[in-house]
Amino acid sequence: MAPAADAVPTAPTAAPFKRVIVNDKIRWRENLPFWAVHVAAVVGAIWVGWSWQAAAWLIGSYFLRMFAITGVYHRYFSHRAYKTSRPVQFVLGLIGVTAVQKGPLWWASHHRRHHKYSDTPEDIHSPKQRGFWWSHMFWILAERYKHADYSNIKDFTKYPEIRFIDKYEQWIVVAAAALVFAVGGATGLFWGFFVATVLCWHGTFTINSLTHVWGKARYATGDDSRNNVWLALITMGEGWHNNHHYYQRSARQGFYWWEIDMSFYILKTLSLFRIVWDVEGVPAHVRDAKISPQRERVAAARAAKAAAVAAVIPPPQ
Ligand SMILES: [Zn+2]
Ligand SMILES: [Zn+2]
Repeated sequence: MAPAADAVPTAPTAAPFKRVIVNDKIRWRENLPFWAVHVAAVVGAIWVGWSWQAAAWLIGSYFLRMFAITGVYHRYFSHRAYKTSRPVQFVLGLIGVTAVQKGPLWWASHHRRHHKYSDTPEDIHSPKQRGFWWSHMFWILAERYKHADYSNIKDFTKYPEIRFIDKYEQWIVVAAAALVFAVGGATGLFWGFFVATVLCWHGTFTINSLTHVWGKARYATGDDSRNNVWLALITMGEGWHNNHHYYQRSARQGFYWWEIDMSFYILKTLSLFRIVWDVEGVPAHVRDAKISPQRERVAAARAAKAAAVAAVIPPPQ
């Protein structure tokens, strides 16, 4: 007969984290434009200098495109946290492309994979597995992630116009830069395109690097996601990343009123005009359950096992 301790059913526990080193080839030559945009931002900003016009271009371009990443690529294309019409879906996707983070299908497909394997060896950008710089930006430059496997994003690959902007994203970016130059001249191009793009990139990248390291975890999500107010401010709400990993279908990532979430406020405003609708929030009972059911199950199983072990092993005299 098996010992009593073995008879106790145990809850599945998370596999121990193992750091894996994979020699992912970085496409250095192919990614020269990535570095060139950084150089152009610094040199161009010094060359044209600072002005109120430059500030307006920088702030307007940064926040418009940060919203297009957080409110559109992330909350819409990756998580479908609200609904909209097909024309608006196209326009929002098009604005997202101008943030120079590749197409909506590529972005959302990789992001869905991040949630599926968060902080395990299969995670495409886990700081726990691969360190800060990999999770921050080198994964994007790797050969391995140049293409995404679109089998997990069939809900959007069915739209030919979305496939089109995803495929020709580089041309759309060039057209957007040309438009900015035509309207705003050198100040518009360097501050509104190059500097704003670099800041928007690294703001977004902090969500993959720092929000899995720096901050507080309110919920037991089984990964290293954290909530961080500073990152929430620069990324228009994405810094409430532990909340988001806990309840991904919510368009609202700041779960409480004091958790500032600019993207959610914009989505709510758009919903007033019926431009978007069914903007999902987080149910109060979900939000207030600070201990996840999975963690409760694991804790209960551990307690039962400990009790069973104690029952068959007499305590030391
Ligand atoms: Zn997400
Ligand atoms: Zn994450």
